[in-house]
Amino acid sequence: MNNIELWQSVLSQMQFHISRANFATWFQNTEIISKDNEKIIISVPNAFSKEWLSNKYNKLILKTLHDIDDSIRELEFVIKPQPIKNTPIKNTSGIEEQEEIQLKFEEFKINKETNLNPRYTFNSFVVGSFNELAHAAALAVADNPGFTYNPLFIYGGTGLGKTHLIQAIGNKINDELKKKKIKYISSEKFVSSIVSAIRTNTMETFKASLAPIDVLILDDIQFIAGKNKSQEEFFHIFNSLYEKNKQIILSSDRPPNAIAELEDRLRSRFEGGMIADVSLPDYETRLVILKTKLQEKNADLPEDVLDYIAANVKKNIRELEGALNKILIHNKINPGLNLEMVKKLLRGFVFSPFDVANYKKIIETVAKFYNLEEKNLFDPTRRKEIVKPRQVAMFLLRKELKYSFPAIARKFGGKDHTTAIYAFKKIEAENEENNKLTEELNLIKQRIYSG
Ligand code: ADP
Ligand code: MG
Repeated sequence: MNNIELWQSVLSQMQFHISRANFATWFQNTEIISKDNEKIIISVPNAFSKEWLSNKYNKLILKTLHDIDDSIRELEFVIKPQPIKNTPIKNTSGIEEQEEIQLKFEEFKINKETNLNPRYTFNSFVVGSFNELAHAAALAVADNPGFTYNPLFIYGGTGLGKTHLIQAIGNKINDELKKKKIKYISSEKFVSSIVSAIRTNTMETFKASLAPIDVLILDDIQFIAGKNKSQEEFFHIFNSLYEKNKQIILSSDRPPNAIAELEDRLRSRFEGGMIADVSLPDYETRLVILKTKLQEKNADLPEDVLDYIAANVKKNIRELEGALNKILIHNKINPGLNLEMVKKLLRGFVFSPFDVANYKKIIETVAKFYNLEEKNLFDPTRRKEIVKPRQVAMFLLRKELKYSFPAIARKFGGKDHTTAIYAFKKIEAENEENNKLTEELNLIKQRIYSG
């Protein structure tokens, strides 16, 4: 493996450990310039990068390098100003080659106008029962921005595809409706722009810069919670866009009614359009996602390896992708991977015992515990001997697997999600006071986690 390949491997691992924005900022135009024995020298474009990388990422980079090549023990960063673009420098020290590799990292290809990453498309987005509502709503919005659901509010846990999905909307509109002006902004960035506009007395200019936007995409809007001035300004920005039928798309790690310290008037705006969640993919879908990613990367892995990854990496899709990447890199260095090696490599991705719970196991265990058949749990009946086990199952799906309430409601025959909330609260409250129930829950959990 030459230095370029080695650095590329490191970068493809780093992507999964740090945010996209940071990745692009700190790793663009970096490369390994020498490797002798234990020491690697990395060139960076300026002093600022050098400081950041050596202070913040030294350990992580070293560990990643060491994982790939365990002889590496030391890192040094040196400043090497980049050749100015448009000045063709031919046939020198692999600069062209390096550039080609840099381009493979789509994070570096973010559209300057829209801030969208072209990698996030509907085409590359796998749909399953865990995200189909959100996907359908997103497509509908992309086809008719401003007039279908406004705002569109997508929520769910980290690494489950929110950013991918809301950017896919932007990319589709950008491709098909060329005249529409689209802007993707992280809420962190958005809030800091508002704060600095307040500080410098330039709010009107800031607002004017947003006025021509047809589609405003704000990622991780829960970030605005508790920031009162920003909420106030955002409320006005929201209204002025909304009144002109401009599309607003929001993502969050939780639904609007669960964002503490959110002004009521904003909450009711967020709830005024379409709210859809993304939850966890099941085993089959995880396998489909892995295969899709392999195809994108033009790579291949043995079926038993894929099966192992899909069966064991369950936390979220980002981890799934990270695990796949790790295996692919090792396979490239030492072709002829076997399952034992894969298990060893993925130790950090496989969580136990917590992660051995899954939907099927919970339903199975709860039904058995209460001497019911699994299908009884889904019976539309108010009989006490069914209602309680059903509520326990809902409670555990929420508590142990972090299922969203709408997702739980859908699993139980499309019930209203308030039924799921009610079940969760009821069992939670009873668990506090009723030792018998606590004991039952402990027994059920033991069974769920004992394999
Ligand atoms: P979130 O914003 O919810 O934290 P991301 O959108 O950043 O999650 O997704 C994490 C990673 O998983 C990204 O690389 C994304 O492309 C991938 N991913 C998420 N959902 C899907 C999906 N349904 N199909 C294919 N890839 C997905
Ligand atoms: Mg995100």
